[in-house]
Amino acid sequence: MPTDFDATRALFDLPDGIIYLDGNSLGPLPRAASARVGKVMTEEWGKMVITGWNRAGWMEMPSRIGDRIGRLIGAEPGHVVLGDTLSIKVYQALASALEMVPDRRVILSDTGNFPTDLYMAEGLCRTLGDGYELRTVTPDAVEEAIDGSVAVLMLTEVDYRTGRRHDMAALTRRAHAAGVVTVWDLAHSAGAFPVDVAGASADFAVGCTYKYLNSGPGGPAFIYVAPRHAETARPALSGWLGHEEPFAFDLSYRPARGVERMRVGTPPVLQMAALDAALDVWDGVDMADLRTRSLELQDRFIAGVEAACSGLALASPRDAARRGSQVSFHHAEGYAIMQALIARGVIGDFRAPDILRFGFTPLYLHPTDVDRAVQVLAEVMTDRLWDRPEYRTRARVT
Ligand SMILES: *Cc1c(COP(=O)(O)O)cnc(C)c1O
Repeated sequence: MPTDFDATRALFDLPDGIIYLDGNSLGPLPRAASARVGKVMTEEWGKMVITGWNRAGWMEMPSRIGDRIGRLIGAEPGHVVLGDTLSIKVYQALASALEMVPDRRVILSDTGNFPTDLYMAEGLCRTLGDGYELRTVTPDAVEEAIDGSVAVLMLTEVDYRTGRRHDMAALTRRAHAAGVVTVWDLAHSAGAFPVDVAGASADFAVGCTYKYLNSGPGGPAFIYVAPRHAETARPALSGWLGHEEPFAFDLSYRPARGVERMRVGTPPVLQMAALDAALDVWDGVDMADLRTRSLELQDRFIAGVEAACSGLALASPRDAARRGSQVSFHHAEGYAIMQALIARGVIGDFRAPDILRFGFTPLYLHPTDVDRAVQVLAEVMTDRLWDRPEYRTRARVT
């Protein structure tokens, strides 16, 4: 049965009068999440207090819900676990991957990567010392740069600024041929289109849940470790809940079985409850349908903007197959233009120095929303509605 996107849209609580094109940055509230979190607070935390860890299954949530995400990213069951923020999960994956290639010292990444991934790599190299270094090249040069000096290839599949998508399977193949271990960041992939980490033979994958998976601000991140590494990967952040027997309270660390060893400390139960409810939305969704619809929405937006708005230059690949689920445009006044759009109910965001970003999320976006967004953007551009001092004052979060 084809996916019913009118039905999925009804599962979200979108503010009236808003066209939400920022689900690539923070997904909106799924209706069921408020009730679910409320129930966990009153029925579980409120009534069970500490016994909730056992009676309500709180302790199993990171792997139980991890598996629900695993289905969306093509992971083998039992190989995804939730916890912490994505920056932490990047660090963990990278540290474990580096240990697997002890005779090499280079982490290869690209200049399109999200800065936190690069910062975490820099910090890890500094801690390790001993000649470890982060090497970045432009996204187009990654394939060429994979050679026998590289220990780990760390890439974000979809560029957060332009939406350009790397070929995960091809680059992983190339990396493995050179003896390189891969860490894929799926921040803009999970819930955005079909992902197949097992099929691509990714070694490690990480991602966040508050973007396309709609877990809410601060929702936990996930980490995948390929089954072939699950019993040998050594966690750098060896926290007690990644211990084989946390409640033995041993004085020394022994890693838990499989991906459970990537847990660190006490998991965020309330955020995981919101995520669990948010994932119910995906039960009736075919990922191939999602991709088709996403590209329809994106192509409709690009065509509309290029026909009606002069001065905006497409920053995303024109070839749909090379895009994730967002479309970006360059404009020197991008920040002010975005503020003018937001003031008129069309919500996207801005990324320095000059990128207007728009996310396309078929679960709750209709083609008529796209048309309306184009129309508002055209008014803003034609009548220079962005050209006001208050639209130039930068907020803390852009
Ligand atoms: C959104 C995003 C992050 C955010 O990391 P947090 O630790 O969750 O704040 C990291 N990496 C990439 C590639 C992202 O897109």
